[in-house]
Amino acid sequence: MKIFDLHLDLEVYFRIPEFLNMRFDDFQRIDFLRHGDIPQFQKSGLKFAVANIFPFYYKNNTWESISYKEFLRLLTRFKDWIFSYDVFKPVMSRNDLINLLKDKNKIGIILGVEGLNFIDSPKRIEHLYKLGIRCFGLNWNIDSVYSTSLKTNKKYGLSKEGIYLIKNLEDLNVVIDLAHSSSFTVKDIFRIYKKQAIFSHNGVKKIVNFEQNLNMETINKIKQKGGLIGLTMLPYSLSKKEKINIDNFKKQYLFLKEIAASNIAIGTDFFGFRFRQEINEGRNYLEFSNYLKKIKADKYFSFYNAFIFLKKKL
Ligand SMILES: [Zn+2]
Repeated sequence: MKIFDLHLDLEVYFRIPEFLNMRFDDFQRIDFLRHGDIPQFQKSGLKFAVANIFPFYYKNNTWESISYKEFLRLLTRFKDWIFSYDVFKPVMSRNDLINLLKDKNKIGIILGVEGLNFIDSPKRIEHLYKLGIRCFGLNWNIDSVYSTSLKTNKKYGLSKEGIYLIKNLEDLNVVIDLAHSSSFTVKDIFRIYKKQAIFSHNGVKKIVNFEQNLNMETINKIKQKGGLIGLTMLPYSLSKKEKINIDNFKKQYLFLKEIAASNIAIGTDFFGFRFRQEINEGRNYLEFSNYLKKIKADKYFSFYNAFIFLKKKL
């Protein structure tokens, strides 16, 4: 089985592993007490992943945005680390995707950001593109000057600067990710952005009532516009209760397969949440890929929908 993962927080693991309850160690070593590593990825058939830079740091009991300058430093450090392993190759174009698909020993890495709070001017977008960023998550859980997040108290989505920023993104071969954006931002994007967006690590609200899970209105709109939903292993997306129920992953998959088969993909969010022993069958990448086999996940869901989408976008 081949896997295309729309959301892996590898930079969080690299920079702040203590937040994840995982030990930082050589990525060539197999360690089932972390969300993944090179041997697990290889055994699982991971072929491409969007690896996100998380542009926040923890200070005085709260998350704060990093500056643009700090972002550039983190990006360089992360690239140096991840590409020091020869198995990972950067994906910056359609051709990179096509060529890497043929090379069965390599894993393609698409660089992304989770939130644009650190961008001090919409004009920075082009610079980030030059540095290899191809997936732009508009928000994490803190509003930016450009758009409101899932946790907002505001009653609007995109600001004036935000609309200008979207116009900058529209001209480039990149992907916009709305995983943590407010319903206002989502509606604004559906209205003004001519291309298709993704929701890289979300679930189905009808099955698990969690804020990051999508309501039917949004799911129908994604279907109509031709976007992607990356079903996630984020514990709260799978269960609101203390005990995580991985069957909710299967339920969400089967539900979406019925109504939007060409819009479903995977966005595990591994390394974006704490390691938890009790997520039986989904503690790490190898267990997750075995679970996909167990639920007979089809190849469009696990790989081709995302591959075809990205091939058109990059
Ligand atoms: Zn996230």
